[in-house]
Amino acid sequence: MSGGIGTTSLFVVPTPIGNLEDITLRAIRILGEVDEILAEDTRVTQKLLRHLGISTPLRSFHAYNEHIRVAGLVEEMLGGKRMALVSDAGTPGISDPCYSLIQGCIAGGLGITCLPGPTALIPALVLSGLAMSSFVFLGFPPRKGKRYWEDLLSETRTMIIYESPHRLAKTLNVLTSFFPAERRIAVLRELSKLYEEVYRGTVADLCDHFSQTQVRGELVIVLEGKPKSSRTPTQ
Ligand code: SAM
Repeated sequence: MSGGIGTTSLFVVPTPIGNLEDITLRAIRILGEVDEILAEDTRVTQKLLRHLGISTPLRSFHAYNEHIRVAGLVEEMLGGKRMALVSDAGTPGISDPCYSLIQGCIAGGLGITCLPGPTALIPALVLSGLAMSSFVFLGFPPRKGKRYWEDLLSETRTMIIYESPHRLAKTLNVLTSFFPAERRIAVLRELSKLYEEVYRGTVADLCDHFSQTQVRGELVIVLEGKPKSSRTPTQ
């Protein structure tokens, strides 16, 4: 079943995190059918729409205007407009604007749907080689946060962390000061792109490697959870 546009007012539409082939057929159809697309950066989304041959009007919806925009957008959707929300890459709401609009739509009794699609955290988890049965997504870690890391020492689930390339070495250094040196970790770089890379090792190994090697591009850190018992193998 393709899932018609029906009574849905807001479609949350994931877009590729690097490889344009990762857009779904349903995403293309919805982006072409809605009255307007709300975009984190209209220039970034315009390039994608041009590539797809879609001419739906765009309006900006980003972290700096999302709170002031919500009431007006909900009003327009109550009046019958159908909208799609996209971010620059991946799934809106995953370290990207979305939450306040979802809250507004729920409060206004509007129909919402989120298409399944690209996001960096799932391929990072799968490629990390670490336990996938249970995990926690932490988003971008705070710049300063002794307490934040201390609270994670007892976390047994695999932890997924977003980080920028220029902060990678610093964050790995912080991890070595809190977590056991032999704790397993992976760094996944440029997922779905031409120069996709996977680094797997211990916290000590990767801290050492990235303190000497400057990286570029986008990356995800995946950290093993605290082993429940030394006799229980991680899956
Ligand atoms: N909404 C996106 C998602 O669903 O994954 C995340 C947006 S967040 C602003 C950007 C962060 O996502 C980057 O700093 C990086 O940690 C991660 N990311 C996005 N694309 C990536 C890629 N192709 N490879 C590795 N990490 C990526």
